[in-house]
Amino acid sequence: MKLSRYFLPVLKETPAEAQVVSHRLMLRAGMIKQQAAGIYSWLPLGFKVLRKLENIVHEEQIKANHIPIQMPIIQSADLWRESGRYDDYGQEMLRIKDRQDRDLLYTPTAEEMVTDIFRSHVSSYKDLPLTLYQIQWKFRDEIRPRFGIMRGREFYMKDGYNFDLTKEDALHSYNRHLVSYLKTYERMGLQAIPMRADSGPIGGDNTHEFLVLAETGESEVFYDSKVTDLTFGDRDINYADKSACQAVLDEFTSLYARTDETHDPNLFAKVPKERQKSARGIEVGQIFYFGTKYSEAMGAHVTDDAGNKMPVHMGSHGIGVSRLIGAIIEASHDDNGIIWPEGVTPFHCGIVNLKQGDPEADDACEALYKSLSALGLEPLYDDRNERAGGKFATMDLIGLPWRLTVGPRGLKNGVVELTSRKSGHSEELPPKDAVEKLAAIYRSINVGDFLFN
Ligand code: ATP
Ligand code: MG
Repeated sequence: MKLSRYFLPVLKETPAEAQVVSHRLMLRAGMIKQQAAGIYSWLPLGFKVLRKLENIVHEEQIKANHIPIQMPIIQSADLWRESGRYDDYGQEMLRIKDRQDRDLLYTPTAEEMVTDIFRSHVSSYKDLPLTLYQIQWKFRDEIRPRFGIMRGREFYMKDGYNFDLTKEDALHSYNRHLVSYLKTYERMGLQAIPMRADSGPIGGDNTHEFLVLAETGESEVFYDSKVTDLTFGDRDINYADKSACQAVLDEFTSLYARTDETHDPNLFAKVPKERQKSARGIEVGQIFYFGTKYSEAMGAHVTDDAGNKMPVHMGSHGIGVSRLIGAIIEASHDDNGIIWPEGVTPFHCGIVNLKQGDPEADDACEALYKSLSALGLEPLYDDRNERAGGKFATMDLIGLPWRLTVGPRGLKNGVVELTSRKSGHSEELPPKDAVEKLAAIYRSINVGDFLFN
């Protein structure tokens, strides 16, 4: 992409309404625009990051053998009356009437609808296990939308639902989700700690929330400092292997880690004093096992060989896809702007032309642009007729992990400069070597390999 042709409405001033750094930086970098309280347009740069996160989520869900579907945003109230949640959900549910005076709602979650799909089409235990998921917009009429897209009213969520014959199978589904979530967050450059949570209105007693530690987090968390040493790494997990998934759950949940809702000071007292930590965290996902609550209420049964009807065991599992962008920025920024992890960056590399209009500099930039693109990478070439200082400030603000700086002086010596946004470290390289280095970095994280279809 060439910046002169792109739509990147960066702001010079720091927006007064933004209280947290991620919100400020998303506005300044021209990623989002607020349209009403807690409702945002996604401008090109923000939309690109959202798509990157969505792709990572799809890829990891599909690896775990979960099947993507898409359910409607606007749902009929009837299904929600069957489960009893139409009345129970409270004011966060946005209720709508159509012209026939029928009750509709904007989906805050989709247990009812997915259970309806299941009961309409699945009747034999042989069709289990089954996990369906979607990535879809949700609406919750939050009393206090704030922190930009981190607590919006409209937000983008991955929600998955497992259907299993037995509790044991459903707990395997739960563990599979935990493993796939750890992998997902890690690919986004985040450490998200699973913490035992409170199930709230969904019901059930097995639930973990995933929290990213950040000063601006809304949840208060208490944990054994050793949990932050746990990293998922490059593990190849066989999702069909029950004990392998259970082992990951045990590894990542046996140390003390709780939110304020489930915190137990007596248990915390058993953690050695120097390892007792309290901090703030951003909830970026949650997994639940709730048994037969919805399947019994809504008649989602399967029949065994002897003709016995049994309600299926279910769980639901959510990732806050749009909130994650805020969480990533909270975890990775400096005074000059965002620092995208390579796995989610909107463009892989910036190209700054120090002397636009100089034939040699222009040619060298074009050549870099072409060779990076030919490798399947997406460069953002700042080809505007602007001063170098302004170009650097824009690149730093929007946070691309790598920048190539091209100017007549370097070209005389046959080099361009490659700079890491994170470390600030620069090195001078022949253009060909710089391209190879970038290709190697991105190849190592398989960027460009996956297309959701
Ligand atoms: P919270 O406690 O933050 O209100 P929740 O527990 O009600 O969230 P879930 O039903 O667990 O939310 O939804 C799954 C995920 O969706 C959450 O972990 C969070 O990352 C994201 N999410 C929930 N509410 C919002 C919101 N208002 N804006 C953005 N993301 C949200
Ligand atoms: Mg939650």
